Amino acid sequence: MSISQLARSISESPTLKLNETAALLREKGEPVIHLGGGEPKSKSPIDAVVNCATQLNTGDVKYTPADGIPALKKAVIRYTEEHYHRLVAPDNVICSGGAKQAIMVLLYTILDPKDEVIIPAPYWVSYPEMVKLAGGVPVVCTPEDGTFHPTVKEIADMVGSYTKAIIINSPNNPCGVVYSPEFVAGMVELCEKKNLYLIMDDIYNRLVYEGKTFVNAYEFAKVPPEQSKLVIINGISKMYAMTGFRIGWAIGNRELLEVMTNIQSQQTSGPATPSQWAAVGALNGVQSSVESLRLTLENARNVMVDRLRAFTGVKVTKPAGTFYCFPDFGAYMQSSQKLSEFLLEKVRVVTVPGKEFGFEGHLRLSFCGTIKDITEGIERIKWALDPNSPNELYLGERKLVRDWL
Ligand code: PMP
Repeated sequence: MSISQLARSISESPTLKLNETAALLREKGEPVIHLGGGEPKSKSPIDAVVNCATQLNTGDVKYTPADGIPALKKAVIRYTEEHYHRLVAPDNVICSGGAKQAIMVLLYTILDPKDEVIIPAPYWVSYPEMVKLAGGVPVVCTPEDGTFHPTVKEIADMVGSYTKAIIINSPNNPCGVVYSPEFVAGMVELCEKKNLYLIMDDIYNRLVYEGKTFVNAYEFAKVPPEQSKLVIINGISKMYAMTGFRIGWAIGNRELLEVMTNIQSQQTSGPATPSQWAAVGALNGVQSSVESLRLTLENARNVMVDRLRAFTGVKVTKPAGTFYCFPDFGAYMQSSQKLSEFLLEKVRVVTVPGKEFGFEGHLRLSFCGTIKDITEGIERIKWALDPNSPNELYLGERKLVRDWL
């Protein structure tokens, strides 16, 4: 079979693959605990479901404008006004099949072959592959001091003649860091000075804890909006727990958005119509589900961090946002891939290797699950790794005897 060079260079989404592995093991009756997941357990908001169902009942489900129905754009505009204090026009908005498609279409729109996109590590697994798919070259910037905080200088030093864009994801998947206003301001200033696109992936902007708020990049922008290369990405997947509906959006200048719309119209003709109705319901409906999800996640985060802090040798940074924790298990095993496979094989706990996010020695643990899953999952990991743990562990009825320490 003949497969293109580009296709061969793209790796499978490790997180989606882990979901499949976990589902297969569960089907076989294995007592799997999934700490790898990237979606909250809560149900979609009722307003989303009702709006979608009402429209579906008409039986009239047709193509929509490629960049989204006017009602959805209006809802996104209102959202942007409320959360970013900026009034944008419908021509500044494109609604896509998830934030992922919005980013992908954007990359197709701005990248020429060999153009570089700077991505601070740790980064969302998909960015490098998406840049490659669009013909570009991902350039990873890893903080020198071993923290999750790159400095403006570190990123500025990587800007070269091929640099086209910088992607900033804050709150950050996988480490939960909310970058400082100084850092975001520095990114805006750098991109404006060097005429680069600044892609702010704000998909977790409502899931921040302890009274913190996300940083709104518009606050620092000096270039007029229609000349600005600042693009804001967001979507309904995380804040409304509506991952399956696949609706996200991008906000940027008109000229850029026009080309993005052309590309999207050739790719998918636009996002699925029922999903757009659902997104309108979520964005315009009662917002209490977001706060309730946020509080549930904050509690789950505290439980996870407390458990990890009681785990000798594991270094943990408390996530300020998202629903992921990114502890350093390097004292136990340097290869995060091997460690993740080991934990799945021995104690049936799904984790995502830090390597996938550009950080060896770490594991991404999600606190989207139940408190029981979090406590039991970490207990199993501790049992598997800590030589001071008792020799036996029960997974339900099954007795495990540790024969590897
Ligand atoms: N950006 C980041 C940082 C994410 O973690 C995800 C989902 N894992 C996305 C974008 C994509 O979200 P969506 O479901 O809207 O495509």
